[in-house]
Amino acid sequence: MNNPQTTVLFSDEQIQARIRELGAAITRDYPAGDLIVVGILKGAFLFVADLVRAIERPLKVDFMGISSYGRGTISSGEVKVTKDLDMQIEGAHVLIVEDIVDTGVTLSYLIEVLKQRKPQSIQIAALLDKPERRRREVPVAYRGFSIPDAFVVGYGLDFDENYRGLKDICVLSEGA
Ligand code: 5GP
Repeated sequence: MNNPQTTVLFSDEQIQARIRELGAAITRDYPAGDLIVVGILKGAFLFVADLVRAIERPLKVDFMGISSYGRGTISSGEVKVTKDLDMQIEGAHVLIVEDIVDTGVTLSYLIEVLKQRKPQSIQIAALLDKPERRRREVPVAYRGFSIPDAFVVGYGLDFDENYRGLKDICVLSEGA
């Protein structure tokens, strides 16, 4: 990409306000029992950090590494587990925390993998959703924001490993 430019889509304040609402909903909804928050690396690392602090109930945190995109903005369609969970999830409530649902290929694959381990329930919390691009149906129980089909960076999301540290979520576009 030549001279990439960033335009703010959601500010730090908007993101934090929405996460407080999601945390309150999760706190309200979950019955007693083990809750394991499964963060998907790397893009969801900041969302996980803020979301777990907005959930007021006991929970455990683990991470899974999944790669579906190569170096660039076009999905390769390939999904690979690059880091598995450290914890056993049998009998627990699992809340998958993902940065963005795009085609749905990554999450539909992940749900199949995790279902085989017999958790009591599996739900998805996704900060961003691009419904226009969906190729596989995935049930998103907690959604931060729906966005149009644009490539976004910041707040954990990267382009070639850059921009993850931006506080805002921005659209990345080619400059003049
Ligand atoms: P899916 O399998 O749903 O097509 O892809 C989901 C993954 O693709 C996300 O977890 C994220 O890593 C990546 N992705 C999809 N859209 C974007 C985007 O606009 N920006 C960035 N940085 N990554 C994206």
